[in-house]
Amino acid sequence: MKIYHKAAGLHHFLAGERQSGKRIGFVPTMGALHEGHLSLVRQARQQNDIVVASIFVNPTQFDDPADFHHYPRVLDNDLELLKASGTDIAFVPEVDEIYPASLKDEHDFDFGAIGHVMEGAYRKGHFKGVGQVVSRLLKITQPHVLYLGQKDYQQYMILKKLVGDWLELDTAVTLVPTVREPDGLAMSSRNIRLAPAERKQAPILYNTLRYLKGHYKERLPGEWQQWAQEQLAACPSIKEIDYFEIVNAENLNHIKKWEDARNVIACTAVRMKDIRLIDNLFIRKIDDVAP
Ligand code: AMP
Repeated sequence: MKIYHKAAGLHHFLAGERQSGKRIGFVPTMGALHEGHLSLVRQARQQNDIVVASIFVNPTQFDDPADFHHYPRVLDNDLELLKASGTDIAFVPEVDEIYPASLKDEHDFDFGAIGHVMEGAYRKGHFKGVGQVVSRLLKITQPHVLYLGQKDYQQYMILKKLVGDWLELDTAVTLVPTVREPDGLAMSSRNIRLAPAERKQAPILYNTLRYLKGHYKERLPGEWQQWAQEQLAACPSIKEIDYFEIVNAENLNHIKKWEDARNVIACTAVRMKDIRLIDNLFIRKIDDVAP
């Protein structure tokens, strides 16, 4: 596995590989890697000649300085994991490689309605920051395929729009299913910061989503939303429920009746102490909108 720290060197190398007909898969991450990230790498490995993974804790997407400060950084271990999972190139830039002083803030990304709901409503500026960093990373790597995890479904919607509408790249965007702990908790780099009692109660998110998926026809979406909020509110470790939404998976619009959308996803975010947990589950999926 080669490690690049500089954007120009990586860009030059990958341009040559692309010209010689190699297919490039790209997995952007913020490090503190777990099986969720590695499943993206493994899928990229199966589908491409060259697998590039980046590790960059992007300051512009954190609305909370404490969250940025506490974000786990374990580079040596991450590089071992990437290598063992079949990564060819790890890109580990410094902040000024991604945001050099010479770089103008090219786009003031606004993704419309899908950027203003859920995560967009609770983390001001988050998607603008995600747009900035992924736009830079895609310009540097110009991959054939970008791999993203379903755990961040709204981010996947945003980045599909970024690739297609803003950057007009012919990069395909592939969504990879959420990898979970044996008790159902979605893997996240932030989970290691949970206290034992919180960790024990954290699967409530997945359990609530799963119950809804199994029984959704019995009640209207709004009734389930209220039920879910009550379930989460009764959990002692949850200090705040940011949202529990049941939406059309294709545009993230609320639905009033189940017939309002063919593909429906429920998404939630809660806070345990200062740690934010998010999760989602397709409640109904008729079309091939995601895995
Ligand atoms: P992050 O390092 O949190 O920015 O995540 C990098 C990529 O890994 C994103 O596309 C995430 O959606 C994806 N990812 C994170 N956790 C998981 C998980 N548990 N299962 C699948 N993908 C994940």
